[in-house]
Parts: sequence; structure tokens; C-alpha cells
Amino acid sequence: MTTPLPPTTPRNGRVYNFSAGPAQMPESVLEQLQREIMDLDGTGIGLLEHSHRGPSYDRLLTEAYDSVRRASGLGADWEVLFLPGGSMQHFSLIAMNFIPKDGFAAFADTGLWAHKGEIETRAVRNTRTVFDGASCRFDHVPADNEIADCTGASYFCYCSNNTVEGTQFARPPKVNAPLVCDATSDLFSREYALDAHELIFASGQKNLGASGISLILVKKSFLAKADASLPGLLSYANFAKADSRPNTPPTFGVRVIGLMSKWIADHGGPKVFAVLNAKKAANIYAAIDRSNGFYRPSMRDDCRSQMSISFQLPSDALVDAFVAESEKAGLFGLRGHRDWGGIRACVYNAFPAHGSELLAEFMDDFKKKQA
Ligand code: PMP
Repeated sequence: MTTPLPPTTPRNGRVYNFSAGPAQMPESVLEQLQREIMDLDGTGIGLLEHSHRGPSYDRLLTEAYDSVRRASGLGADWEVLFLPGGSMQHFSLIAMNFIPKDGFAAFADTGLWAHKGEIETRAVRNTRTVFDGASCRFDHVPADNEIADCTGASYFCYCSNNTVEGTQFARPPKVNAPLVCDATSDLFSREYALDAHELIFASGQKNLGASGISLILVKKSFLAKADASLPGLLSYANFAKADSRPNTPPTFGVRVIGLMSKWIADHGGPKVFAVLNAKKAANIYAAIDRSNGFYRPSMRDDCRSQMSISFQLPSDALVDAFVAESEKAGLFGLRGHRDWGGIRACVYNAFPAHGSELLAEFMDDFKKKQA
């Protein structure tokens, strides 16, 4: 059964947090974690204190798997894995698991994280850049016919939402190689053809709550091709065999991802959040569009992200003023990535809709004051 989303105004002295991650979480999830940290299920033992081999953790793990499956809509032909470390770790791990020593991965260089991901991959295997976004200053994600031939690649890796530049794929690209997706900043935020992929990975700290842990969704048929000779703690197959706990797992992070996925599924799943997120993003893009060029997005209109809205101002001094004044208005976390500058507003699933209306009003007022 779908429960309606709760009121959208932060309570208990909390503020609107537009941070790119770690990011705003639902208060109901935070409150449940607060209770569980003291005492899980009336056991007299807190969430952080339970053995990862005991029945309480067994229950939390099962619930986390079930909730991820509900939120993703993926079937029994997919494996769900929780691994320690953020998604940056997975670029080299995926390479070691799925590329033979003389093979290569194809990469779409659509922005900072995709670029860093290719560099990480190259530390262990060869790569081939089949779309170079630097030539267009990362102003768009490629159409299928802009991606070079991927023949021979073990997989094609791309980033579905470019968190820094604010561009997003509308649908998975069609290329002649298995698809691997870094969905760190938009997983479960919209209806997306996850099934078109062989492997999808995401750090927790955006739509899934906790940093330092990653969710890996991998097709069982793809996993069957993984290198079986890797050390156990680098092997996805081993994590699958060991129920995501070949050693002591990040139990807290698994619980957070479980609760966040449950929260998403209980409120209608990606289909419902897609509508909400589009509305939040539209409020902010509308303020950009009516500013007569004062707010300058660097991406093409047809690639605008619904999750991370990024734009520049006429000067760095104005960016500083914008950040300082927005904080006075209760709007936090708006400074753009340190390598990109400007302003960035992330409106992940748990970001309250009203906050995007307030930001749009703030943007109108801020611009008026500069006239
Ligand atoms: N990919 C994307 C799309 C990201 O936004 C980020 C973090 N902002 C990363 C990868 C890296 O994640 P982590 O720091 O958790 O390794």
C-alpha cells in the first residue's frame, strides 16, 4: 500500500539542505534510526551493537534486500549487493571483476565523476573514451549516434546523472556493449529502464542515505562471468555468495539503505518521486529562465537534470553573496562543486518540495536586488 508523503516543511529546527551528498533525509527515517540506535526491537542492544551474524541483523538484511527489490522493481534474475566504500571504489573493482587483463572498458566522459571513474578504471585496465564531453564543455549527454563504436569492450560505463554539471540521461544509451551505470545521484528518483543494464552502482549518501557504502545491482548472468580468481573481498561473486557479509559489513549503512529504500517504496516508488522531483526541478529552472541570463546554466535545455540543478552567476563575489544570503533565508548547501563553481541545488527524493519554491522566490529577490 502507498502512504502519502508527509508535510514538506522541516521540523525540529532543521533547515532546507540542498547539499549534493551527504544529503537531506526524511525525518521519519532519522527518527527510526534514533530509536534503533538505543534499542533494536526491544533486545536491549542498539543497532550499532548487534552482531552481524545474529538474528536481528539477519532480519535487517532481509528487509534491506526486500526494500531495494521493491524500490527497484528488479526481478529474481538480479543480485542485490551492499559493499563498503563509495562508488569511486567500484570503477576499479568492476574493472577487475569484468574486464580480462587484455580487455578494455568503453567510457562516456560526460563530466567530473565519469572522468574520475575512467581514471580509476585505467589504474587496473585499459579504457577507451567513446564520447568526449570536454569538447562541448559537458553541456550535454550524448545521443546514441554521438557515441563511438564499442566493439570489443567488456562494457560501456556511463553516469546517468552528472551531479556536478547538472546533466542527465533521459534513457539508457543504446550501444554495442553491456551497459554499466553509475547511478549514484539519481537511483530510484524516476522511472528508468534499469533492466537495460548489466550492472548499476550507487553510493548511499544521496537517495539512499548513508555515505561510505554502495548499493550494487547486478544481473546474475553478468555476475557469472566475473573473474573467480580475485581476492574474496574484491569479488562481487563472493559478496553475493556470502550475503554481502564475507567479513564484518557496514551494518549501520545497510540499515540506512534498507530504510531509505523502504521509504521510497512505501511512498509509491520511483514513479511517484519522478513527478515530485520534476516539479521541484521545474520551480528552480523557472527562476533561471525568467532571470534574463542572470542565472546561467551551462547545460543544454534537453539535458537538464531533475536532481542536481547547477548554474553560474555573473561573478564569484555574487556567488559568495548568494550563498551567504540564502543561508540567512534557511536554504543551505547551495555552493557548487569546488571544481565547477557557481550554485548547485540538489533536490533528491527526500528534499521537501516547498524548499524548491522558497529557493525560486529567493532567486527572484536576489536578482532584483542586484539591478
Ligand atoms: N559518481 C557520482 C555521480 C557522484 O555524484 C559521486 C559523488 N558525488 C561519486 C560518483 C563518488 O562517490 P563517493 O564519494 O561516494 O565515492
